[in-house]
Amino acid sequence: MKRLIKDFTLDELKKWVEEAGERPFRANQIFEWLYKKNATDVNAFTNIPLALRKKIEEEFILNSLRTIESMCDGESIKFLFELVDKNAIESVFLPYSYGNAICISTQVGCRMNCAFCASAIGGMIRNLSAGEMVDQIINVENVTEKKISNIVLMGSGEPFDNIENVFKFIDIVNSKEGKNIGARHITISTVGIVEGIYKLSEYPKQVNLAISLHAPNNQLRNELVPINKKYPIEEVLKAVDCYIEKTNRRVTFEYALIDGVNDSDECAKELAKMLSGRLVHVNLIPINPVNEKGFKRPPRERIREFYNILESSGIQVTIRRELGSSIAAACGQLRARHYKYIL
Ligand code: SF4
Repeated sequence: MKRLIKDFTLDELKKWVEEAGERPFRANQIFEWLYKKNATDVNAFTNIPLALRKKIEEEFILNSLRTIESMCDGESIKFLFELVDKNAIESVFLPYSYGNAICISTQVGCRMNCAFCASAIGGMIRNLSAGEMVDQIINVENVTEKKISNIVLMGSGEPFDNIENVFKFIDIVNSKEGKNIGARHITISTVGIVEGIYKLSEYPKQVNLAISLHAPNNQLRNELVPINKKYPIEEVLKAVDCYIEKTNRRVTFEYALIDGVNDSDECAKELAKMLSGRLVHVNLIPINPVNEKGFKRPPRERIREFYNILESSGIQVTIRRELGSSIAAACGQLRARHYKYIL
């Protein structure tokens, strides 16, 4: 069975090249074609001997994704990709003033079952490999003809539920021979898998951490984010404090605002009290409605009031720019629609 070439780090590819009877520098040349030139056809590798090209073709898949659909709302572009095994995943291209960002998926589906999320519909199917994550960047760059400078692991899937592949992915995109994207431009967004947060605290690269919190107390969070029963807020905060202490990096708390559920003044005050004194930033995300789940976005004034309470309590807070709501930009919605989980 063919393997995905982008699942190989440079050292692993050097080993393969040597076993194929070539000198290791050929792996650097291959990396250059794959990651600097985004080549997806081995025939483009003109400085690689024909015999080695043939061997690459026989043994490897060069591109693991096929675009099924892409939707643009004038700014952001949402992609639905088909994997080699016919599963589908989503990625979103987000142009910002500071550079182009991509939100990538780390799993097909998700087992975390957050109440408002379409990715959970249909359950968890499988982990993505490192190369399948890298290919989301390459394919989006090739279609948009724009360089990606920031990566958020916040699409479908829980990154810390696939931590080895996620760390390998970061090694490949961060390496100067690979995509050469700085670790500080990469953000892992987790629902609060405590072991993963501790591992990230020890990780040698300065990757950013975001926590999908969505509720200011365990009672409400148990309903919205069921994994909270295993990893309650106190445990998550303890792990976050450890990450901040070890890395001195600010942590983002994502808070999806849902009308009548977690958007009250009391929730805002409770949230402010919980986070006060910590090196954190709150990102308020007015929710994208997922039809079947019946959640609604709060009115604009309610969002503003929630924001004001946090801000006046000294919490750094932003409201996420509304990109992509018309193209189902919340994670999992396009895929769910594709599979007719929701219509
Ligand atoms: S919000 Fe994230 S962690 Fe929760 S179900 Fe969706 S993809 Fe999984």
